Amino acid sequence: SEALVLEGIEKGYNRGKPSEVVVLRGASLTVARGEVVALVAPSGAGKSTLLHIAGLLDVADRGRVVHAEREMAGLSDNARTAARRADVGFIYQFHHLLPEFSALENVVLPQLANGVAKAVAVARGMALLERVGVAARAGHRPAALSGGEQQRVAFCRALANGPKLLLADEPTGNLDPGTSETVFAALMELVRETGLSALIATHNMELAGRMDRIVRLDQGRVVA
Ligand code: ADP
Ligand code: ADP
Repeated sequence: SEALVLEGIEKGYNRGKPSEVVVLRGASLTVARGEVVALVAPSGAGKSTLLHIAGLLDVADRGRVVHAEREMAGLSDNARTAARRADVGFIYQFHHLLPEFSALENVVLPQLANGVAKAVAVARGMALLERVGVAARAGHRPAALSGGEQQRVAFCRALANGPKLLLADEPTGNLDPGTSETVFAALMELVRETGLSALIATHNMELAGRMDRIVRLDQGRVVA
């Protein structure tokens, strides 16, 4: 069964204005349950737009978005936000951790917001940090961590509430090649262990080649 289906997605900005830009022109793709798909495209091709639509942060002009057989079109704003929080974990090129909180707190806070009891949230947070090898840094603020450590903490935060679908936009794009390699390996291990389905945008063909499948975004459409 499919974790994610995008069908005929069309999206433009500034519609009807001289500055109109049409980004997606009928993009379709699926991510099967447990599958890790690489999304490869030149910069500006619409990867972020596609990921935001898949993750319910943005709404397509046309087309279908389906999460685990549940149709997302026509949901109210509140229902869409609830579905996003329940279904999706996001990772970006930059970690976006809260600077005034520790690494552990950054992984605990989204769980508290989701109604998880504090002791449970702390235990799960520590377990996640351990799995990616940054448990020893749990009490440090993001600024005290290396770029690779910051990104590992961001992975843990994205998985804190047990999403079914991981959407990542250049998750190692800000790291030097050596760090990128080890951080990517940690991410893939975490994804495989948790049986997550993932759509991971990258420019790095070597990393893309280690995912289950590669799709390309070309002229607003997805090609295999
Ligand atoms: P990518 O992630 O592949 O670099 P994006 O999805 O960020 O591509 O952007 C695709 C195109 O849409 C670019 O030309 C970008 O300038 C344009 N774009 C993105 N967001 C907006 C916006 N909010 N308003 C207008 N144009 C936008
Ligand atoms: P909200 O800001 O609506 O409360 P959540 O706290 O539920 O959103 O965030 C869920 C996920 O969506 C987080 O991983 C967060 O980084 C991401 N996210 C929320 N809003 C945006 C946005 N405007 N742009 C990019 N990512 C966002």
